[in-house]
Parts: sequence; C-alpha cells; structure tokens
Amino acid sequence: MSAPRVARTVRNRLLPLIAAVVAATSGCHAAASWAGSPSPWDDHPAQGAGHAKEIYLTFDDGPGTETGQILDILRENNAKAVFFAIGQNLDAHHDLARRVINEGHVVASHTWSHQNLTRVDAGQGDAEIDRAGEALRRVGSTSRCLRPPEGATNDAVKARLRAKGLRPVLWNVDTEDWKRPGADVIADRLVSRVRPGMVVLLHDGGGDRSQTVQALRTALPALAAQGYAFRAVPGC
Ligand SMILES: [Zn+2]
Repeated sequence: MSAPRVARTVRNRLLPLIAAVVAATSGCHAAASWAGSPSPWDDHPAQGAGHAKEIYLTFDDGPGTETGQILDILRENNAKAVFFAIGQNLDAHHDLARRVINEGHVVASHTWSHQNLTRVDAGQGDAEIDRAGEALRRVGSTSRCLRPPEGATNDAVKARLRAKGLRPVLWNVDTEDWKRPGADVIADRLVSRVRPGMVVLLHDGGGDRSQTVQALRTALPALAAQGYAFRAVPGC
C-alpha cells in the first residue's frame, strides 16, 4: 500500500469519529454540564437549558398515593416538575391528575401499562402509546413528551415516537428512590449529584413512596439554598 493511500485510509477512518465527537459536543447544552452522564435528550433541548442554575425534577409511575404530598412540597418550594404518568393510573386518579396540571406542572406519557417498548411488537407498542395519549387528553394534558418505561429505547421505538410527534425524555440523575434506600440516602444523592440543567428521576407511584416524599422535604430547600430553581423539562 502506498503512503498516500495509507494516509487516506486513516483519514477515512478518523473522519466519522471526529464528526461524531463534534456532533456530541456542539449541542445546545454546555458539554461540561453533562460530563459523566448520558444525555437525557434524544433531540435538541430548548436553547439555554443547562446554562441557568435550574434542574428538572421528574416523577414516574403515578399518579399514586403520595402524589398529593409531593405536590404540597413542590408548592412550598416554588417548584415545577413533569409527572410521567402511567395511562391506566390517570384514569384511576383523574382528579389528582387534574390537580397536577392545575398547579402548573406537566403530566406526560409513561405509556398505558408500563411495558418495555423494545420488547413488545409494533401493534402492542402503538396501543401502549396511543391509549396513554387518550388518557392524557382526558385529563387535559397536551404534552408531547414520553418517558419510555425502564428508559428502554432503540431505533424502532424512536422512529415510532417520532412518527407520532412524541419526544422521548430520559434522565441524568437516578436517585434509585424506588429501591427505598432510606430518605436520607435519596436526599443526599439528589443534592450531591445534580448540576445545572440536569433531569432528575424520581417516583410518585409504583409502590410506597414515603421515602421519596421525606427526601424532597429536605433536598429541595437545600438545593434552593444553593440557588437552584426547579422547572418543568423544557419543551414538555
Ligand atoms: Zn416507570
């Protein structure tokens, strides 16, 4: 192989890599804000997110028994959040879902019955997404954001969501509150791991969430004292 040909081969191998790195670091977010965490966005986030000292709390699997207490704590801390609700829970807790929206939060989709969208066939996947969409409309939500159960997506799921005008939203900080490690552990994780512009995963359904409630009582004032504001995920 001649020298120029070797050089061209190396360059051809490097160019896609360089292009990928440039694409990964030239988004709207400051790259440093996401260091060490996977981006929660599958498309471009709102301009400016990640630069202001704000974080995005999200609550999955409700509405449930603790949702009302969480709403009280959010109000006390001047906080807004996104609730990724399970469709069948919306029908079971219609008034609670209405309260979430009336208090300025967003109710978005977490599918109808919490199926892993990468493990169901296309018909089941469509039904999970569409039935949840109908339940959301019944409580007055117009959000186009969807959190895939277990955070599971693949190219086919992303294409299906895109075709329906829906945007997948994952997270940066997982408190693992659903494992019930203790309210103090959940609060410590929240306070120590968040950085400006990060999306935080919490749960208001799917089991006893009293530890999550207790953790929020201490973590939100602590973060507010650091200057953080709590907003709904931009674009949801
Ligand atoms: Zn979930």
